[in-house]
Amino acid sequence: MRYSHSSIETFKTCPLQFKYNYIEKPDIKKKQNAEAFMGSMVHDTLEKLYKDLKYNKLNTIEEVLEYYNSLFKESYSEEKVEIIRDGFVIENYRETGEKYLINYYNQYKPFDQAKTLGLEQEITISFYDSVKDKTYNLVGYIDKLALISKDHIEIGDYKTNAQAKTQEEVDKDRQLAIYMIAIKKLYPFVKEISLSWYFLSAGIKQTSYRTDEQLSLLEKEVIENIRDIEDAKEKDYFPAKPSALCDWCSFRTICPLKKHDFLDKQEPVLENKYLKEKGVTLVDKYQELSEKKLEITKDIDKELALLKEAIINYSKENNLEKLFGTNKNMLVKEYDSIKLPLKNTDKRKDLETFLKDNNFLDLVSDISIYKFSDLFKSNFFSKDFEDKIKEYITREKIHRLYLNKK
Ligand code: SF4
Repeated sequence: MRYSHSSIETFKTCPLQFKYNYIEKPDIKKKQNAEAFMGSMVHDTLEKLYKDLKYNKLNTIEEVLEYYNSLFKESYSEEKVEIIRDGFVIENYRETGEKYLINYYNQYKPFDQAKTLGLEQEITISFYDSVKDKTYNLVGYIDKLALISKDHIEIGDYKTNAQAKTQEEVDKDRQLAIYMIAIKKLYPFVKEISLSWYFLSAGIKQTSYRTDEQLSLLEKEVIENIRDIEDAKEKDYFPAKPSALCDWCSFRTICPLKKHDFLDKQEPVLENKYLKEKGVTLVDKYQELSEKKLEITKDIDKELALLKEAIINYSKENNLEKLFGTNKNMLVKEYDSIKLPLKNTDKRKDLETFLKDNNFLDLVSDISIYKFSDLFKSNFFSKDFEDKIKEYITREKIHRLYLNKK
């Protein structure tokens, strides 16, 4: 079994939760809480920002937010994400993440404080337990590993918790200190390794250091922690340890200490009124409702298209980028876009041949409009090439509308 900082912490918080999560893995619909979901969307967006920078592409804040918002929209579903706090809706979390990204962007732009060595970098550390004569492997992921100067590496972690930690708390934090053990071995020439937490909510960075002595003490602690887990596995002893964190536990619907709450609150199962119908009736009804749904959707889409056209007109006539509704605000954004010839048309085939002849083979297998458009807008192609390719593409303005809370 590969351990991680979070699996060790889970065992310390509640051994039963550890057993469910890392050993039994019961087949239940696990939901991610909205805080963790928003955090992972922000992490992925920052990862993209720094990945693009490696290839000299500095995304604008609009591009960063567009990526974040479309990722958020694509990844979110009520079945996968759970909002635990009363009175909150998913929009509150989306907006919070957006605010964090804007603050971070403004604070660190143009992001030239350090050279990026790794993003979401996986590290594995081996710990030898002389008591059990066993080696344990612990795996971890570093949000951002950065070279501050030739003698100084920073292990960076983005935090999207509402509250930042104090200096005393980060000085005691074990996660980045454990990663430091691995980084020291990977980069023995580096004189200084700092541990930095970027608290996106407060816009502050806390930095901490560890001595060799502290690291060897930590190593001993980690070995003892893992040994406790190994003992629990041998005895199959994973007692439930209830705490305030139970509300955030994905297994509370099956945990013997918590599931009673859910049995009482479970919604009554609606009886399926079609169960006794004949096959032909079921198919006819299914067809009828599917067609009805299609009609309704079509009508709504038509109305929305008319509204969008009217909103764009209104904003252009009055030179407005932001409109105010009764409950929501709306941003009206205009972007430059390009259009490729449709798939399976002669013009598209000509374009593919043209790209192939100009050594852009990787684009040809399946021309991605996003990738192509990005390369085009970032002046990736030579002027000469751009002039030639213009006959295959059409430039156009596109508009996007964003509804935001007031
Ligand atoms: S609900 Fe609480 S006690 Fe039960 S497994 Fe989860 S954390 Fe442990």
